[in-house]
Amino acid sequence: MFDWKQDPHRRFNPLTGEWVLVSPHRTQRPWQGQVEPAAAPPQPAYDPECYLCPGNPRAGGVRNPPYDSTFVFDNDFAALKPATPPDRFQRDGLLIAEGEPGICRVVCFSPRHNLTIANMDLPDLRRVVDVWVEQFADLGARPFINYVQIFENRGAMMGASNPHPHCQIWSNHTLPNEPAREQRAFLSRSACLLCDYAALERASAERTVEENDAFLVVVPFWAVWPFETMVLSKRHLTAVDQLADAGRTALADILQRTTARYDRLFGVPFPYSMGFHQRPTDGAPHDEWHFHAHFYPPLLRSATVRKFLVGYEMLGSPQRDITPEAAAHRLRQV
Ligand SMILES: [Zn+2]
Ligand SMILES: [Zn+2]
Ligand SMILES: [Zn+2]
Repeated sequence: MFDWKQDPHRRFNPLTGEWVLVSPHRTQRPWQGQVEPAAAPPQPAYDPECYLCPGNPRAGGVRNPPYDSTFVFDNDFAALKPATPPDRFQRDGLLIAEGEPGICRVVCFSPRHNLTIANMDLPDLRRVVDVWVEQFADLGARPFINYVQIFENRGAMMGASNPHPHCQIWSNHTLPNEPAREQRAFLSRSACLLCDYAALERASAERTVEENDAFLVVVPFWAVWPFETMVLSKRHLTAVDQLADAGRTALADILQRTTARYDRLFGVPFPYSMGFHQRPTDGAPHDEWHFHAHFYPPLLRSATVRKFLVGYEMLGSPQRDITPEAAAHRLRQV
């Protein structure tokens, strides 16, 4: 039997059906790769140049209202448009294309330009959870919207164009690739995959990072990104709209504690892409779905050294050096 603290091995991701290569012995190798510039200096509470701050103009001349809590608007450069006809083109089974109707929105978490999930007041972040529930219901109720993807890109390293605390919601007609793969995995088992997985993780605690009454945060056994985490609902819920009052506050709490832990890890505002996976909104009950969130942060060993998915990872399989167990241990220590 190999020693998974030392020996190269691969781990299976039951949600996606893919394998990740783990090479723990390589954590000793010298690094001469790219060094990212250190984080930008602190931001002001209001930035007259920011298109998300209250009262400021956006592209196309629309002006934001003087909002004092959350603020939701349709994306000015939306990747999806509601009036797109869902027609299909196909030639010889090789050239296949479909029209994809959808709606893209932006949710500002706060009027204050310089806040993040980690340092917002908990009641204000709880209000953001309420907005996610409202938007999931509003967008999901439309007949041409069958999936609602809520996600946050934070930090220039992840392509976030603006530091103002906000997320995006892209909702569309068909199930995107990632939730489609997860749905196949959920449907392939008689018991819930993530209820079973959460029970395993709670029993070992080896990869646990955070926990409260309603949620568990782990570095998944099959994580690809060095400090990737998954936020698992302890109860079997299919989507954010099944969280009762206490559960919504617990979600705000666990997101806050997780992002604060990330920020402490390298002493910088930690960049990441985060998003929820939940049941499709096609009208079926989808009891197979287990509500959860993924955090995908790119940083590897300091504020300035990031992981790239290149070379073997583009052409072969994803690969990591530090084990998920070691990453969870480091996150627990800060
Ligand atoms: Zn702003
Ligand atoms: Zn479950
Ligand atoms: Zn997922």
